[in-house]
Amino acid sequence: MLLSTIAIDYFFVPPLRSFAINATDATYFASFIVCALVASWISAAKKEDEEALRETRDQLEVRVAERTAELQRSNDELQESIEQREKAQQALIKTQGELAELSRFLTMGELTASIAHEVNQPLTAVVTYGRACLEWLSAAPPNLEEARHAARTLVQNGTRAGDIINRIRALFRRQAPAKDWLDLNEVIRESMIFMREDAGKHQITLRTELAVDLPRVNADRVQLEQVILNLVMNAVDAMRGTGSSSKEVVIRSHRESSSEVLVSVEDSGVGIAPEIAERIFDPFFTTKPQGIGMGLSVCRSIVESHNGRLWAVPGHAKGAILQFTVRIDSREER
Ligand code: ADP
Repeated sequence: MLLSTIAIDYFFVPPLRSFAINATDATYFASFIVCALVASWISAAKKEDEEALRETRDQLEVRVAERTAELQRSNDELQESIEQREKAQQALIKTQGELAELSRFLTMGELTASIAHEVNQPLTAVVTYGRACLEWLSAAPPNLEEARHAARTLVQNGTRAGDIINRIRALFRRQAPAKDWLDLNEVIRESMIFMREDAGKHQITLRTELAVDLPRVNADRVQLEQVILNLVMNAVDAMRGTGSSSKEVVIRSHRESSSEVLVSVEDSGVGIAPEIAERIFDPFFTTKPQGIGMGLSVCRSIVESHNGRLWAVPGHAKGAILQFTVRIDSREER
């Protein structure tokens, strides 16, 4: 700018070829200098802006590169953790299989111990009363009355041991259930026929409240009857000793959800104490003097083989409700 001002002054502003300026041309020269200054200022500002822009772009590029590297890193980490998770899942499935196997062994072990314990009691009694019987017979004179009593007790205990074995055999007879399309209400009504007389003997009435729109279920008729009979028999047992005025067992059926039908058996008996609520389903758990304690455990395994659940809740007023669900097959729904 300085050079062009000097050149303008020297070559174009009179007097020519001299650095002096006439008074008349001073305004012209001054306006040239102002214009030159403004042009120079604009060009400097533009250059500065371009410089800043370039710097910002460079910074942005650096940050983008950094972020890309970070993303790549976390992607790698994610990939690695997915692989680890898959490996852990495989290990879990394997462990679960091993655990199931182990628990089967343990259950078998526990069950064998319980069976041995249960059968041992009546067998010990058989031996004791057998010996006593022999002694009463070999006395002089033989005490026939005592010998008869010992022999009777011996037979009772022998029968009890046989009953236990039969129940266990029934439990472990791993026959595939003979499934059929059943009307659960009909199964309940049929089961009631077997029970009415026995309940009547103890002044207990059986009442049914059956839903009319129950869909059919794909199930084994005999097994479901066995479950219902067992639950009703337990309900009758629970009310036998009570002095309750209205002794009634109510058997209900209704559609529990879109996929399940529920059957419940309610009594107004002694009820189930909370501390034994889950134990009643254990094999050989019983509170009855003549009980075997296999009924509910067998019922539960039957219900579960029909993809259902069996559980107990307190009765509406008193007593207990034992209830189970049976799954409705989706084909039936269609
Ligand atoms: P068992 O009838 O031979 O005792 P179960 O497995 O059928 O064997 O029943 C186990 C126990 O559960 C019974 O001894 C009883 O204590 C309890 N129980 C079952 N049903 C009822 C009920 N409706 N009310 C009260 N207690 C019950």
